[in-house]
Amino acid sequence: MSYPTSTFLLLGNPVEHSLSPLIHNSAFALLGLPFHYSAHRISDIGGLDVEVLGEVDRGTERLRHVIDRIDGVSLKGVNVTIPHKKAVLPFLDELTPIARQVGAANTVFVRNGLKVGHNTDVEGFLSPLLGLNLEHKEVVILGSGGAARAVMVAAESGLKASRISVVSRNLDSARAACADLHMGEVHEYAELPELLATASLIVNATPVGMWPATDHSPLPPFAKLGTHPIVYDLIYNPEETELLREARIQGSTTIGGLKMLIAQAAASFKIWTGQEMPVDAVEQAVKAHLKLKKN
Ligand code: NAP
Repeated sequence: MSYPTSTFLLLGNPVEHSLSPLIHNSAFALLGLPFHYSAHRISDIGGLDVEVLGEVDRGTERLRHVIDRIDGVSLKGVNVTIPHKKAVLPFLDELTPIARQVGAANTVFVRNGLKVGHNTDVEGFLSPLLGLNLEHKEVVILGSGGAARAVMVAAESGLKASRISVVSRNLDSARAACADLHMGEVHEYAELPELLATASLIVNATPVGMWPATDHSPLPPFAKLGTHPIVYDLIYNPEETELLREARIQGSTTIGGLKMLIAQAAASFKIWTGQEMPVDAVEQAVKAHLKLKKN
């Protein structure tokens, strides 16, 4: 199988609505780079037959097959998303320390002929928090899935959090995250009021509030935030979720998921191309696209 010159791929399932192709292709066009980025669905590991790159194959073999084809020249690199961020690890030659710590890779690149797995979600998450004086504070994370794990690592390594509370409806997965990462405390939603009172950063790492169910909030009704915490929703559609709206009304600083989405893409872009992504112009392109989709 051959690829057009200098291709990048997103591998996941589903990928049909991913904004990554728009983000990367906008950046390539803005910088005049002769690269192309496209999204390709690969079924769950061991899952059903699916069509990928015009062929039909099974998930595990397809994932390995595409990873094997990364040569750093024609297929320069890939992003990996749900549900393959963990499953891709055995197919790589090396992991960066961050990918090893999170236990998942979202970016693959070639270094010295070796396929290296990295995780840019940690850097992407931290990017909008730079300069907000959040070091050594209490962090509350809602949800305990893949994104929550990256946020936990960011809270510990980037923010040196004094306390990391993982609030989840799925206590087994929260316990597993805390045990695997050797950090954090597990809490039920019933304990939220007490945790919110002293948290300086509250992060929604659940899909609650995501389009089209935009009137939902992961917080219980009338939840009271403490003294103006920063409230960060990883959801990027809508731009202001119900959680962020409630937080803004209570006087909190709010951050939406689009900043992280673009920052984690920019980190992959820098690794692959050696160039800075023009993030402001890319953000405008993504916002225009999302607005167009709504109308
Ligand atoms: P995930 O691995 O599927 O984890 C989702 C978490 O949310 C799980 O803990 C899940 O609990 C919980 N959850 C799901 N529905 C819930 C509900 N109705 N009430 C309470 N908890 C619920 O997904 P993920 O990859 O971590 O992604 C989480 C969110 O972050 C998604 O909205 C995703 O789009 C967003 N995200 C954004 C970025 C960005 O760059 N902005 C990056 C990554 C992720 P169960 O285990 O019980 O299902």
